[in-house]
Amino acid sequence: KTDKKNDKANEPKIGFKDVAGLDEAKEELEEIIDFLKNPDKYRAMGAKIPKGILLHGPPGTGKTLLARAIAGETNSKFIAASGSEFVEKYVGVGAKRVRALFEKARKEAPSVIFIDEIDAIGAKRTLESNNEKDQTLNQLLIELDGFNNDQTVIVIGATNRIDMLDEALKRPGRFDRNIFIGNPDIKSREEIFKVHIKNKPINPKINISELAKRTHGMSGAHISNIANEAAILAVRNNKKSIDFDDFNNAIEKVIGGLERKNYSII
Ligand code: ATP
Repeated sequence: KTDKKNDKANEPKIGFKDVAGLDEAKEELEEIIDFLKNPDKYRAMGAKIPKGILLHGPPGTGKTLLARAIAGETNSKFIAASGSEFVEKYVGVGAKRVRALFEKARKEAPSVIFIDEIDAIGAKRTLESNNEKDQTLNQLLIELDGFNNDQTVIVIGATNRIDMLDEALKRPGRFDRNIFIGNPDIKSREEIFKVHIKNKPINPKINISELAKRTHGMSGAHISNIANEAAILAVRNNKKSIDFDDFNNAIEKVIGGLERKNYSII
């Protein structure tokens, strides 16, 4: 049985070139990439290999994309899961799934396990015991402690709520590195626009830095959405290429959507 998310592993390979901005994060991840590419170099030197990395920050900022790019850059198998898939009613079911996930990763090594919403399994334990939840988290800790230096498996966890994670997860040898992935600044937004218009017919007069200016506070996911909306608008208006008006209207539409969301919270 294949699940939808992992089918994406068969899509065209994603590399760092597809991830715009995030230069500091990429720099920090270079070490992990080198390890995945040349594990023996580190082993020969007796160096402990890194195991877990947490990517944390607001939604839509490229955490999943970055994890997939690490797998792409190193020709590793990308194995994706979401923390919520391990939240179960019956005791032992979540733990069993965690075990199966790591077993698969070891079998297919070199591999990158990506666990989105890791807070769903890794939230701080409370005094009130919850057997199923505790067992699932324990199994995750066991798996992290369990794999040894011969196994080229890296686990990347993503969360919007790093403050919610149990301290045990962040101990040395587990998820002992964390990298903040924030919303893009103006220069990065310009880069993200460039990535997302690369394969689209664009009116050459378009001023991308102006688009970056108009999308203050937005994430990479919003920008990707804007590029797509602009393309749809251009089709609807029977244009040969996407022009500035289409982008502007797409930006208005996305801003409108964001505002409506805020109202519904109130
Ligand atoms: P979530 O916390 O909601 O899971 P995320 O941080 O994992 O979000 P992604 O799923 O990686 O976000 O990003 C969603 C989409 O937004 C990507 O598939 C990509 O199209 C676009 N995107 C986000 N950040 C970037 C970026 N830095 N460069 C290029 N595209 C980006």
